[in-house]
Amino acid sequence: MSLVVAKFGGTSVANYAAMQSCASIIAANPNTKVVVVSASSGVTNLLVELTKATINDIQRDALINDINVVQQDILMQLDASVDVVSAIGQVLNRIQQLSEALVLDRSKAIMDELLSCGELCSSILFAEVLKQIGVNATAFDVRHVLRTDSHFGKAEPQIEQISHLVEQHLLPHLATQCVVTQGFVGADCHGQTTTLGRGGSDYSAALLAEALHAEAVEIWTDVAGIYSTDPRITNNARPLKEISFNEAAEMATFGAKVLHPATILPAVRQQIQVFVGSSKQPELGGTWIRHQVHNPPVFRAVALRRGQTLLNLHSLQMLHAQGFLAHIFTTLAQHKISVDLITTSEVNVALTLDQTGSDSSGQGLLTEALLQELSQHCRVRVEDKLALVALIGNQIATTSGLCKQVFEVLEPYNVRMICQGASPHNLCVLVSENDAADVVTRLHGQLFELEGRC
Ligand code: ASP
Ligand code: MG
Repeated sequence: MSLVVAKFGGTSVANYAAMQSCASIIAANPNTKVVVVSASSGVTNLLVELTKATINDIQRDALINDINVVQQDILMQLDASVDVVSAIGQVLNRIQQLSEALVLDRSKAIMDELLSCGELCSSILFAEVLKQIGVNATAFDVRHVLRTDSHFGKAEPQIEQISHLVEQHLLPHLATQCVVTQGFVGADCHGQTTTLGRGGSDYSAALLAEALHAEAVEIWTDVAGIYSTDPRITNNARPLKEISFNEAAEMATFGAKVLHPATILPAVRQQIQVFVGSSKQPELGGTWIRHQVHNPPVFRAVALRRGQTLLNLHSLQMLHAQGFLAHIFTTLAQHKISVDLITTSEVNVALTLDQTGSDSSGQGLLTEALLQELSQHCRVRVEDKLALVALIGNQIATTSGLCKQVFEVLEPYNVRMICQGASPHNLCVLVSENDAADVVTRLHGQLFELEGRC
């Protein structure tokens, strides 16, 4: 069976009209048997607000009201069956109960169950939209199959168990039905609800596709694919028809908003091709991300990631010594911090933090505790308001003559750090956030607009 998993992001299921466009996309491809939805746009943010300790009763009521309005609006326009009205009513009641429970018990398990409610609503509603246009659809609770560990807020999927559970509980439906399920949500071995971290729905879709040995994963969002750079930065950004898994993974890691960085992993493992397109304008086509691509160019895209923090660690212990880096990285690992870029000198090591590791509540990564611990071994300097500009492509490290083109553009700027050589697919520079858009626009002009590459 040639099977497609389609995922619709928050803006694609933001309201009834948006859901209708998505439904036409599903109806047009009978191979689309599994649909993964995000919460309607804004709902997860409201739920995150509800989990905060600082809100008072009035604020809580206002937040719950805002969530109810989004869901009830869709429900009303849908002219839904009694069952659907009651199912949504139950989820909305649950939001009320869970947010009240949090006042007494600030349990992470309760927070995750609360956060899952947005996806629960949109899956129930979207299944109904599909039914109304004649698709034999059913809402399916992903917690039956998406097994994770119990790290609430950023749970780790248990791949083998997911594969077994999917075979047992999900696959049998697909012979006759199109299943609509929740992104971002999982359950641990005790059946407690977990979440995969903000933006985790793409990951959910890829995990299910992996377990189902799907032919493709479609990520339907509000842009017509992946661009050579962020179109909000320069009008000259161009949509890419095709990119490789390696390039896409680098792009996602280095700031392209289209994909959750981890999304690509389950797809890579199984060599499942991923499509990214706009649910509002499916006719524009989109980008295919594949294992093998034709004629990979040296430079494919420029990615930008703002809000970077640079840690500079200085220690004379580093001089002709062993184990200093091991020590530093052990400390970072204990604080669950992963590192993006790293450069070293005789007595310094500079590194940038990977902010994609933050949990569902978006808690800051660089804690006082960590800084104190590091300070025991070295002098720590922290610099923020930096941005990472990454040139993504192929054979970058082994192609001669590239540096001149790149450094010509960088000449007027203060480059805080450069990383090149580890991967054939990227060349990264760290610049001030204020310069970032200019640097991206000029690099794009120099590398893509002059010679008509990409
Ligand atoms: N609704 C979740 C979020 O806003 C997951 C997702 O949309 O991917 O982070
Ligand atoms: Mg999203």
